[in-house]
Amino acid sequence: MAGSKINTIGVLTSGGDAPGMNAAIRAVTRKAINHGIRVFGIEKGYQGLLNGEMRELSAADVSDTIQQGGTILKTARSEEFKTEEGRQKGAQVLRDNGIEALVVIGGDGSYRGALELYKSAGYPVIGIPGTIDLDIACTEYTIGFDTAINTAMEAIDKVRDTSSSHERCSIIEVMGRKAGYIAMWCGIASGAEEILLPETYDFDEQKIINHITDIRKIGKTHFLIINAEGIGHSTSMARRIEAATGMETRATILGYMQRGGSPTCKDRFYASIMGAYAVDLLYEGKINRIVGYSKGDFTDFDIVEALEMQKSIPDYYVEISKDLVR
Ligand code: ADP
Repeated sequence: MAGSKINTIGVLTSGGDAPGMNAAIRAVTRKAINHGIRVFGIEKGYQGLLNGEMRELSAADVSDTIQQGGTILKTARSEEFKTEEGRQKGAQVLRDNGIEALVVIGGDGSYRGALELYKSAGYPVIGIPGTIDLDIACTEYTIGFDTAINTAMEAIDKVRDTSSSHERCSIIEVMGRKAGYIAMWCGIASGAEEILLPETYDFDEQKIINHITDIRKIGKTHFLIINAEGIGHSTSMARRIEAATGMETRATILGYMQRGGSPTCKDRFYASIMGAYAVDLLYEGKINRIVGYSKGDFTDFDIVEALEMQKSIPDYYVEISKDLVR
């Protein structure tokens, strides 16, 4: 490996928090220190950067964090950073503190901020995918997704038990913003009768009503609908379905519980590798890259190309989710 050209880096978490972010911060910190690079932890995302909220991290500072949910660096959204003046100020704060490159752990929006930081001020950046939504096109894995789907699945199982006892229809709304990955995974894993995805839902409630009516005729006494946050309106949907079918229907919106909790082994593992990988990129003199996981391996992409990529839920998954319901 090439000799170190960089002496000091910064790391921040931005946008929505995700379980496993601490494992990534820990890996960035320890890998950098192993390379003889100093690390500054910047608090509260880009807003904290603008306010100069940062501290140098030692290897001990990240002890006992790998199992913790949330982010020890806190996170925030920043309107000021979306302005040219804001980004110039951000770059100046970094340079004034001797920080030569910034590792950003977050989602698409955070990468856009990082790219604009480079474009506005020529400031070097590296992105690590941290979001429960799995909606980053260049990577098949994002930190936090695995914990979130397991948390949601366990909650769905519990609601399903009581729904079965009371012979109800349950609509359970899961997170994911505009993407349906959490809904698709949890829907298949819970054996849901209907999975409503922002990517494919045609807003035809009559089809759902007909499905419930048909399935009751063959002896099913409860019905599970997983609805994605990107569609929403679960409570009013429940009222309409109950009125049309006569089946007691309840909506449960899982909400922020899906963001919390101790990360799963998979999230800790992937976050650890990605955090270390990000530092190795900088150590090798590579900048403006996004770390990703694709086709069975860890890899990295040019940030501009990464932000132009598109991904969608495979039609085959949608087909299977319907095939398996009886
Ligand atoms: P996520 O990273 O989870 O997608 P957001 O979309 O909220 O979350 O973005 C996080 C932050 O990134 C924003 O609050 C803002 O400070 C910054 N950001 C997003 N888009 C841009 C942009 N086009 N230019 C500069 N900063 C941006």
